[in-house]
Amino acid sequence: MSGNESRLTAISQITNREKIAVKTPESLDKIWATDVFNLETMEQALNKSAFKAVKQTVQTGAPLAPAVADVVAAAMKSWALSKGVKFFSHLFYPMTNITAEKHDGFIVTNSEGNAITEFSGSLLIKGEPDGSSFPNGSLRMTNAARGYTAWDPTSPAFIMHTENGSTLMIPSVFMSWTGEALDKKIPLLRSNAAMDKAARKVLSLMGEEEIAPLSSSCGAEQEYFLIDINFANARPDLLLAGRTLFGASPAKGQQFDDHYFGAIPERVQIFMQDFEDQLYRLGIPAKTHHNEVAPGQFEIAPYYESANIAADHQQLMMTLMKSTAKKHGFMCLLHEKPFAGVNGSGKHVNWSVGNATQGNLLDPGSTPHDNLNFLLFCGAVIRGVNKYGPLMRAVIASASNDHRLGANEAPPAILSVYLGDQLEKVFQDIKDGNIASSKQGGEMDLGLSQILKFERDPGDRNRTSPFAFTGNRFEFRAVGSSQSVSGPLVAMNTILADSLDWIAEKLESELAKTESRTTAVLAVLKTLMEENGNVVFGGDGYSAEWHRMAVEERGLKNLPTSADALPYLRDESIRELFKRTNVFSPVELESRFEVYAEQYILSIEVEAKLVIEMAKTMIYPAATQYLGELSMTCSGMSDLGIEMDNSIASSIANETNAMIAAVAELSKAITKHDFDSIEAHMNYCANDIHTLMDKVRAHVDALETEVADDLWPLPKYREMLFIK
Ligand code: ADP
Ligand code: MG
Repeated sequence: MSGNESRLTAISQITNREKIAVKTPESLDKIWATDVFNLETMEQALNKSAFKAVKQTVQTGAPLAPAVADVVAAAMKSWALSKGVKFFSHLFYPMTNITAEKHDGFIVTNSEGNAITEFSGSLLIKGEPDGSSFPNGSLRMTNAARGYTAWDPTSPAFIMHTENGSTLMIPSVFMSWTGEALDKKIPLLRSNAAMDKAARKVLSLMGEEEIAPLSSSCGAEQEYFLIDINFANARPDLLLAGRTLFGASPAKGQQFDDHYFGAIPERVQIFMQDFEDQLYRLGIPAKTHHNEVAPGQFEIAPYYESANIAADHQQLMMTLMKSTAKKHGFMCLLHEKPFAGVNGSGKHVNWSVGNATQGNLLDPGSTPHDNLNFLLFCGAVIRGVNKYGPLMRAVIASASNDHRLGANEAPPAILSVYLGDQLEKVFQDIKDGNIASSKQGGEMDLGLSQILKFERDPGDRNRTSPFAFTGNRFEFRAVGSSQSVSGPLVAMNTILADSLDWIAEKLESELAKTESRTTAVLAVLKTLMEENGNVVFGGDGYSAEWHRMAVEERGLKNLPTSADALPYLRDESIRELFKRTNVFSPVELESRFEVYAEQYILSIEVEAKLVIEMAKTMIYPAATQYLGELSMTCSGMSDLGIEMDNSIASSIANETNAMIAAVAELSKAITKHDFDSIEAHMNYCANDIHTLMDKVRAHVDALETEVADDLWPLPKYREMLFIK
């Protein structure tokens, strides 16, 4: 295909596509969680004692005894077979953001050569994938790359239906034979345990007698783009890098804001319905969907669940979004910045912690006592973000999220905490000593319950903050749309655990001095705010003034690229934090650094190679072909005695030459491989390579606005964003 043929074919295929029939959605109570082997299903399928044991495991995370595992495996198998399933697969979450599967058949042949189905407890709790192709950083040396998977009984098994048949999926942990975590699930479970342990200390000092297990909750709002698959197929950059590496801004972009909450196009609506139907069958409580700010951009937010389940469901949702989009002739783009100059996609991770006895500890509650617990937990978060801001930045670091952070529609790369005017004032008053306990012994009503009603009003929230209190939870908004929520959740749970430990120690010594719990709590929080109040910021996070003030006056770190942020995973204080809380051993943490750094470098190298290839094989031919046509026309006209204006031809010739010169520079730059350290290599990618890629892009985008439309090979922004 030459010229714009691929674009025209794409457009004609979109225009003439057969409509997918609208199915009447089945009622929720008929389909809800029908494909999930959850506690309800297990109660039906298991004998009483096995069910009791499993329930205990599910609710407390206690290990599953091998004998029980056998009974559960047998029940799980019959349930799956009764639903037409022939295969099972351990599902796990390696250090990349992907979800991995290891498929096996239930069917084996017995000694007589007959097919029987087999699935034992040991297969359920120990599968053996060949880990060699999953990145495992420095852990490679310690375990010869092999690892095993084991069912995480707190996350129910489920059935995944595809065109190739149905598979029983078993959410699993993935670890090395020597016990190191090779995945994103184990650290999440460990961070929850650390938080639980520290929270208990604080709650018992606060006089709580009955304390149920604490767990963190997560509700993630997922933004994404849908574009027609025909356009994606015509763009190597979308296919291989998930974002456009070239593309001039369309005359009409998002400046009219007419897409936000606008009518959802019919095709997209049919996609959403199909997608939600699948989610409901899997017991995933998807809640809202609406158009986002950019044309072609949408959002889905499931109702919050316990963090471990929410993380599994989030991964599953991303997988299903992509496969369902394909079925409907779309490509689902989860990249944080698929189109330059157009709003990017984030994933707001809403997070809270609580239990069955004290409730949500980030909810101010209705009694003075609840208020005090709330202030301690909220203060703990403030301290955590202040002390470990670079960690919070590192867990959202990726080559793709770097394009979004600080890009004037997304939070800056400076981690601060937004509390809202009312709560900010409460903490300020505590710091200034303006709130003091008046009576000894009793607990004073700080009136927080009334005050905080305001914060629940979404209209009142500061949208420019990367980390905001929203009435009964914190919302981490700097997370990227393609990222696993586990990293951010691990970081939040761990910094909370660390701060609660600190609080417990201080509180204990304050309580030795006074009868009044209020006095003791206020004294602890006063110190906490004196040391960490700098991180609280309610102003405009996008402003240049904040960027200056944050760094110069508040001592916060501005870490614009992943190359700036990831090395903090090697920082002594962060290594100690994870070691102390038993979330990552130093070697496990080091392996994360290596894997993320490697991925960062790799994705930029892939993009750089694509830039070179597309410029040479697609853009250069289009530009020179047009130049050929122009020069023939000009000389023909000149033969007739008519002189043509040749400024466009000169401009195209200049841009083309400049583009080729920039391509040559970039080609040379990517051959450099001798670096003193992995940090130096990352910095080289973040600065030198990126600068050269931008240079090529500037010339290509200029050419797009000058070369004849019928010769331009790549689908244009206006086409991809507006044609549905
Ligand atoms: P927004 O106004 O930011 O769009 P929504 O009301 O749509 O927020 O809620 C965003 C997400 O926050 C949802 O997934 C919701 O379930 C979740 N959420 C609500 N309360 C909590 C909580 N206490 N802990 C964690 N997540 C929560
Ligand atoms: Mg939100």
